[in-house]
Amino acid sequence: MFNNFPLAQSLLDWYASNGREMPWRVRGGAHSDPYAVWISEIMLQQTTVRTVEAYFIRWMNRFPTIQSLAAADIHDVLLAWQGLGYYTRAKKVHECAKVVVDQYGGEFPADRETLLTLPGIGPYTASSICCFAFNLPETVVDGNVIRVIARLHGLTHAVTKDEIYELARQITPAHAGADYASAIMDLGALVCTAGRPACLMCPWSHVCRAYHMGNATQIPLINKPKRAVRQGIVYLIRNQRGAYFIRIRPGKGLLSGLYEFPWIYDEESPLYPVKPDASAEQISHVFTHFNLTLRFQYVEAEEAPFPDGIFVLPSDFKQYPFSTLMRKVIKRLPR
Ligand code: SF4
Repeated sequence: MFNNFPLAQSLLDWYASNGREMPWRVRGGAHSDPYAVWISEIMLQQTTVRTVEAYFIRWMNRFPTIQSLAAADIHDVLLAWQGLGYYTRAKKVHECAKVVVDQYGGEFPADRETLLTLPGIGPYTASSICCFAFNLPETVVDGNVIRVIARLHGLTHAVTKDEIYELARQITPAHAGADYASAIMDLGALVCTAGRPACLMCPWSHVCRAYHMGNATQIPLINKPKRAVRQGIVYLIRNQRGAYFIRIRPGKGLLSGLYEFPWIYDEESPLYPVKPDASAEQISHVFTHFNLTLRFQYVEAEEAPFPDGIFVLPSDFKQYPFSTLMRKVIKRLPR
């Protein structure tokens, strides 16, 4: 058990002169716009700060208030999200904006339990909103925090998020919720990095067990579930004008609501009797729980194979929100 107050204070002092600047971040207290905090936190899930910066600025220009987002058409929301991946997040963002506007008068609730009842807001996002939008002393645990806390305690076994949360909670100070959450994440991103931690620059080196044991780079050990591998076929159905058939992906699955070239998993019924062989052109994509490879099948057709789609020229694709998976396909189409 560490003496918590000096530990938190030394990190806050380090943050005051070393913390990162970000378009959604303020120092010394809560952000004045919980909507901006929420959008940035959702975008930052599975995406780097550098990538998010440009998207965040564009988004806030396009939808400057939660009311403007709630009133937007889902097509425009998906178009603005295009390229960030994980499109379920964009759909949930839209859904959540409507709930906050309709049921909370456009104001985010300032407590974790109520936040957790909103669409798309899980424990991490709820804690982040509490910290950054309301300056509450909640504990946030992302990949950076896992690394810092595991090393600080010298944990050489496979750690769990719950275990790290409890240890992180014990040193979270009762004041400066926003700055402290930013500080511990920045320590992980700037100093306690995965490959080469700069321990001599670290405000916690005097108490860090991994530093004193000399095994920081071997920590943390995380048991990652093995990803399944799936295969499928994407149908590039084009007419004589060079337009391709696209449709909105039906159903409620991962990519539903986005435009696609029709595609199937190998275990589903094929759309055409002749299948592409293993030598066909293909793309691969990594989803959260599985890796997918799609083989290309070109089909010449003048009639739309499904009633719910249209033929579109490649020069007009930018008007339609495609998933990252489909954008990879588009990049490989013949020019
Ligand atoms: S002393 Fe080194 S290993 Fe320990 S928290 Fe600081 S940067 Fe990480």
